[in-house]
Amino acid sequence: MEQHDVLIVGGGNAGISLGARLLRDGASDVAIVEGQGVHRYRPLLNYVGAGEASMASLERPMAAVMPKGCTWIRDSVVAVDPANSTVTTREGRTLHWQSMGLCPGMEEDWDATPGLREAYVGGWAGSTFVPAYAAQLWPALKSLRTGSVVFTVPPEPAPCGATALKPLFMACTHWRGRVSSRPSTSTSWSLVRRCWINRRPTRPWSRPSRRTASTSCARPG
Ligand SMILES: Cc1cc2nc3c(=O)[nH]c(=O)nc-3n(C[C@H](O)[C@H](O)[C@H](O)COP(=O)(O)OP(=O)(O)OC[C@H]3O[C@@H](n4cnc5c(N)ncnc54)[C@H](O)[C@@H]3O)c2cc1C
Repeated sequence: MEQHDVLIVGGGNAGISLGARLLRDGASDVAIVEGQGVHRYRPLLNYVGAGEASMASLERPMAAVMPKGCTWIRDSVVAVDPANSTVTTREGRTLHWQSMGLCPGMEEDWDATPGLREAYVGGWAGSTFVPAYAAQLWPALKSLRTGSVVFTVPPEPAPCGATALKPLFMACTHWRGRVSSRPSTSTSWSLVRRCWINRRPTRPWSRPSRRTASTSCARPG
């Protein structure tokens, strides 16, 4: 049975950072289980959605971001057995660990919102939180000449939900520049104000009851 002092599940920002930190602190046998060949720096996704970055700029070969001295196990964990300190992988390996870090990130739950999958496939919804759709966002926003746009700010546990405001600000700036003589400028900025107001809790903060607390932007045609 393969064995490592430290086994980390997931080679995203958390797993890579944890592995590097442990090696720096003197750990000698650190392995990261990660099935993807490409590492994505997710905070840049908002800039892709805002037309300021390309997908290529936030992607690196996984091998290039693996900390030196770390063993990369290119596989996925399908089961964790804490009683025996082992994990089982998709390829059928059993890996034993002394210490383990679970950093698998989050998965989208498409079925939690009826119609969401169809909206993405149909091209009238997009998200900077979904890598496969981030690149189609800016062309859609940029080419918009009339109509309404609804920006949503995902509540926890979505990671860094408030940063979803970045494409909103960028789009407002774009529209303001393009239509400077038209009233839609102020419409955009009133949206921004309303957005902040909506985010401010009226009572001590409690978990939002809906999965997406929304702000809407209506642009005059
Ligand atoms: C659009 C957006 C903007 C953001 N902006 C910011 C920001 O400005 N500032 C900030 O601090 N944070 C920001 N964040 C949050 C930050 O990117 C995340 O908190 C961070 O990426 C989480 O890292 P992670 O390693 O936990 O998860 P991820 O980056 O999702 O990585 C998880 C990894 O685990 C792997 N994995 C999953 N399951 C398994 C398995 N069973 N076996 C093996 N491997 C597995 C996946 O393939 C993946 O590579 C943003 C996030 C998004 C989406």
